[in-house]
Amino acid sequence: MDLRVRALESVLTAKGYIDPAALDVLIDTYQTRIGPRNGARVVARAWADGAFRERLLRDVASATSAIAELGYGGRQGEQMLVVENTPRQHHLVVCTLCSCYPWPVLGLPPAWYKSAAYRSRAVKDPRGVLADFGVTLPEGTEVRVWDSTAELRYMVLPLRPAGTEGMTEEQLAALVTRDSMVGTGLALAPGTAP
Ligand code: FE
Repeated sequence: MDLRVRALESVLTAKGYIDPAALDVLIDTYQTRIGPRNGARVVARAWADGAFRERLLRDVASATSAIAELGYGGRQGEQMLVVENTPRQHHLVVCTLCSCYPWPVLGLPPAWYKSAAYRSRAVKDPRGVLADFGVTLPEGTEVRVWDSTAELRYMVLPLRPAGTEGMTEEQLAALVTRDSMVGTGLALAPGTAP
């Protein structure tokens, strides 16, 4: 795959269709400047501000604009839908077809998200996948799987951990992991954040 990508990049560069320097800027942007800390700030705001949370969960247009208020939007995040975990329902996000992922809030997808194993098993055996990630849910919690597409990207609003009353948004954001916003993890309990 690595060789194929490099061969393709060489051909496209030679033909003048792409500028390698521009490509480097794009990759650097998504690898080092845009990442899951953006999404964590969105989640922390939703936990701290009920009106923001309501707008974030209302519909695609409202979620996309609520996220844009914090400065996150654009490429691969043009249409966002946010789904909220509750004690009764847990959401898991996958792209069964390829690797669609909400770049502006989560950065680039991790390797496992793009793997055939995750893409097929998330649908067939979501609880098994969650167990592999170390997540065990109560019996009564329903698991709902969302299949991302090029048009629509999902982000999970994780359950707010107990014992976080009175924490600032910054403190709350530190508890929000990338995986908790994909649904393969839970937000950290206070005192366990790195
Ligand atoms: Fe995809």
